[in-house]
Amino acid sequence: MNIKVLDTTLRDGEQTPGVSLTPQEKFRIASKLDEIGLDYIEAGSAITSEGERESIKEITQQGFKSEILSFSRPLNIDIDYCLDCDVDGVNLVVPTSDLHISQKLKTTSEKLLDLSNDAIDYCKDHGLIVELSAEDASRSNIDFLKSVYLNGIEHGADRICVCDTVGILTPDSSFELFNSLGEIDVPIACHCHNDFGLAVANTLSAIKGGASEFHSTINGIGERAGNTSFEECVVSIDRLFPDFSTNIKINEIYGISKLVARSTGVYIQPNKAIVGENAFSHESGIHSDGIIKNSATYEPMTPELVGRKRKFVIGKHMGTHGLDNRLKELGMDVDEKQLQQICADIKELADMGKTVTDVDLQVIADNVLQINHEDMIKLDEVTIVSGNKVMPTASVKVTIEDEEILNAGVGIGPVDAAINALKSLEIFNDIDLIEYHVDSITGGTDAFIDVIIKLQKGEKVVSARGTEPDIINASVKAYVAGVNRLLGE
Ligand code: MN
Repeated sequence: MNIKVLDTTLRDGEQTPGVSLTPQEKFRIASKLDEIGLDYIEAGSAITSEGERESIKEITQQGFKSEILSFSRPLNIDIDYCLDCDVDGVNLVVPTSDLHISQKLKTTSEKLLDLSNDAIDYCKDHGLIVELSAEDASRSNIDFLKSVYLNGIEHGADRICVCDTVGILTPDSSFELFNSLGEIDVPIACHCHNDFGLAVANTLSAIKGGASEFHSTINGIGERAGNTSFEECVVSIDRLFPDFSTNIKINEIYGISKLVARSTGVYIQPNKAIVGENAFSHESGIHSDGIIKNSATYEPMTPELVGRKRKFVIGKHMGTHGLDNRLKELGMDVDEKQLQQICADIKELADMGKTVTDVDLQVIADNVLQINHEDMIKLDEVTIVSGNKVMPTASVKVTIEDEEILNAGVGIGPVDAAINALKSLEIFNDIDLIEYHVDSITGGTDAFIDVIIKLQKGEKVVSARGTEPDIINASVKAYVAGVNRLLGE
C-alpha cells in the first residue's frame, strides 16, 4: 500500500523554538521537498504575516508537483488569506478535546462542530482541498471525534488527520485509535509529536492501524521535542514494512536533511538514525573488519541507500584493517610495519583524550612514511624552563652514534632555547635554519601543532616536519628529523 507523506517542516518545523526561515530559505526547502517526491507540502500559515504570505505565494507560483497547503483555523479570515496565497488546499485545524474546546476556545462542542462544518463549506465553495485535522485528537472523546470527522466528510472534507498534539500516544494506543476509525472512507493521516520519543513508532503503528498518510518534518524538528522525523519514518517503511511504500526518493534524504539543518541552524545529534554524523561510521576494529568483508554484518542498510558514504573513524577502538582502508581512501599505501606504527601512534594520541581527525591521520602517516632510514641522531629528552620571570632555558639529551650527550641552551622563547641547546653541539655546525612555520591543525588549545622547517647545509636544503600536541616537542622533533635527513642522505 502506498503511503502519502505531508511535510510540515515549513509550518510546524518552523515553530521550533528559535527558528525563523527567510522566504528564500523556505523556497529552497520547498523546491527540494517537491523534487524528492513529497505528496503534500504545508508551506506555512497564511494568517501569520505578510512575509509568510509572500513566501507561500512564491511556492504556489512554481507549479510544483506536490500539493501545496496552508495551515488554517476554521475561520473565514484565515481561509481568505489562504485563498490569497493561491494554495491547493488547507490543513484545517479544529481542536476536538474538551480541554482545548473549553479552555482555549471557550466554546462548546456543538458550536465547534458548526464552526468546522461552516469552514469546510466555505473552503469547498472556493475550490480548496480540505484536510480536516482534529487537534489534540488523541485526548478527545472518541465519539465526538468521529462525529467531527463524519460531519466534515459530509461537508466535503477530502482527507482527515488525527493529531497527537502533545505526543501521548504509544504504539499500542496509536494502533487502536486508527483501527477504530474503520467507518471513515476518506484517507486518514496521522500527525505525531515526539514528547516521549515515540513519534516515529506511533506513526508506524498508525499506518498499521489504517492511516494512509503521515505528517513529518525533516530531521524531526518542531515544537518542543519536535514532530515525526521524516527520514526515520520513510526509511523504516522502506526497509522494515514490506507491505507499505512511499513516493520518496530515498537516496536524496541526506541532502535535504543537511539543507534543513543549515537553514534552520538546528544541528543534528551525531547518533541520530539515518542522518546523524555517526549513523554510518565505524570505529571498532571488530566492526570495521566485518564491514569490509560484508557490510551487512554491522549495517542494516547501506549508506548509499540514503545518499551517504560509510566512514571508518580513526580512534583507539580501531583495528589495522579499518585503518588500512582509510589510508587507501586518503591515497596512501603503507606496508605492514608502517601500518602498525601509524596504528600505535594514533592509539597513543587517542589515549591522551584527543579526537583523531583525518588531518591528524594524514600527518601521522606522513611522519611514519618519512622515517625510512637509520637516524644518526636520536632525541631522548627535552626539558624546558619558561615563564614570564625567567630566561627560557632548555636542556636536551640526545644519542649520537651510541654516545649520550647532554646539553643546555637559552633563548628568547622556549622553542628558541631548545633549538639553541641542539645547535651548539658540534654535529649541528654548518646547519642553518632557514624557515620555521607553525600551524595549529585541529583548533583548540589541545590541538595538534604542525611544525614545518627548512634546513640548509652548504648547497643542500631539506624540509622536515614535526607534529605533536606540544609546540616545543613538535619543533625539536622537526629540527632533529631535518638534521637526520641532511646528514643521512
Ligand atoms: Mn503539530
